[in-house]
Amino acid sequence: MKASLPVTVEDIEAARRRISGRVLRTPLAFSASLGEICGVPVGLKLEHHQTTGSFKLRGATNAVLSLSADERARGVVAASTGNHGRALVHAAKAEGMLATICMSRLVPDNKVREIRRLGADVRIGGKSQDEAQQEVERLVAEKGLVMVPPFDNSAVVAGQGTLGLEIIEQMPEVATVLVPVSGGGLASGVAAAIKAQSPATRIVGLTMARGAAMNASLAAGKPMLVKEYPSLADSLGGGIGLDNHVTFRMCRELIDDIVLLSEEEIAAGMRHAYTQEREIVEGAGAVGIAALLAGKVMAFDGPIAVILSGRNVDMGLHLRVMNGEADPFRVEAQ
Ligand SMILES: *Cc1c(COP(=O)(O)O)cnc(C)c1O
Repeated sequence: MKASLPVTVEDIEAARRRISGRVLRTPLAFSASLGEICGVPVGLKLEHHQTTGSFKLRGATNAVLSLSADERARGVVAASTGNHGRALVHAAKAEGMLATICMSRLVPDNKVREIRRLGADVRIGGKSQDEAQQEVERLVAEKGLVMVPPFDNSAVVAGQGTLGLEIIEQMPEVATVLVPVSGGGLASGVAAAIKAQSPATRIVGLTMARGAAMNASLAAGKPMLVKEYPSLADSLGGGIGLDNHVTFRMCRELIDDIVLLSEEEIAAGMRHAYTQEREIVEGAGAVGIAALLAGKVMAFDGPIAVILSGRNVDMGLHLRVMNGEADPFRVEAQ
């Protein structure tokens, strides 16, 4: 059954050899406070300390290193202004390749500057993310640039899976792994790596209650479009693609449970990370802690690993959340 999935543990082990030396092997730190709350050891996988501030560097680096010499010469392109864009630019630059990032005119100046500072060729045009994506497709068709998608790609999923190999080594008895889910690239790779070595380990996917496309798709049995809302977990926004090839199948097969978190719960997770663990994490990176604090992950039958997936939060927003604002986006969402 699992042998027929698009990405196997062998692919993930090959990815690990390929990207070794180019990404950090991040630490796993035990949390005394969460261990006390849960009654079992809780290990925090500190992936927000990864170069570029998120795990996305693993997948982007594996994708870039998997290109042919001809593709490398043409350069890579994506429409992401977030963690994937950041990671792709870094990975391409490390190989002496050009990365083009397309973004709409609505993207704030500071984000544009940051991606440019990393070394991207930034193309600004259009009024929406969809129009930026159309520009990507034009560059692929007319200039031969190679598109590297943020999740629905087997090289990207295999790269993200390397994080799962590290968790199993750092916590061999792990009974439950808490993993944030948006497009499902991280969950697919981590679950494939972990289930291959420890089939009984439970994989729990975490996402926000408002506008979670993978959750709606799994419930419907096929990829679904959902309405998007602003969220503290902005890195978890966006669809999974109606013609999803890789991650929908893998998540359907490998994720045992999905837990949905409110904005208030995500804010509490960010605050706990900061005040108890001394860690700055973005909303998407705090959903695992949020789920434990909210008592939404049950049946504690052994050690829990929690993936802190990223730290790229606007520090003004972080400060507001630390000062007790529970749902900074409430007004816009109504
Ligand atoms: C992209 C991202 C996720 C979700 O990853 P998917 O592979 O899209 O499910 C979670 N956390 C952070 C910080 C991210 O950047």
